[in-house]
Amino acid sequence: MSEIPAYLRNGYITPEELFSIIPRPSEERLRKRPVAIPECPQEIPCAPCREVCPTNAISMPTPNDLPIVDYDRCIGCSLCVQICPGLAFFMVHYVGDKARITMPHELLPLPKRGEEVILLNRVGEPVGRGKVITVVPREKSKGDTPIITVEVPIELAWEVRAIKVVRE
Ligand code: SF4
Ligand code: SF4
Repeated sequence: MSEIPAYLRNGYITPEELFSIIPRPSEERLRKRPVAIPECPQEIPCAPCREVCPTNAISMPTPNDLPIVDYDRCIGCSLCVQICPGLAFFMVHYVGDKARITMPHELLPLPKRGEEVILLNRVGEPVGRGKVITVVPREKSKGDTPIITVEVPIELAWEVRAIKVVRE
């Protein structure tokens, strides 16, 4: 019997596990423009990300296969992040000593552009503070999911996958 992967036992995937399954974009590519990263390691019958992509950057021979992004074809439009029902697509863009992470954000309140927020890792633990750069509310999202882009210290680029709004 094959061993259950750690990400299934733990309920979250580490960057090391993720990049043992999908290719890791180069630093050069990460600096060029935002690049979409699917954190979707399970073979489930689902393909809206592939269907919405305007450049056919997402390959998935059948809906049961894993989405694999051709990073050179990805134009960073964020439609896959907006439409993914599993909240499994993110975008990463290195800008100087910061990284801009685009992520789904279904919790209320929706942060505002320019607002400082608490950065959370994949387990939901606070790991620092960052600034919201853009907000796409539900009514402007291609799917039902609002998305936000947050600027974080570059060393947290592969840790931060959610935020918490704090308003005293
Ligand atoms: S960001 Fe846009 S171009 Fe890139 S994979 Fe997603 S849908 Fe395709
Ligand atoms: S839409 Fe989301 S959950 Fe569905 S295959 Fe694509 S990345 Fe996975």
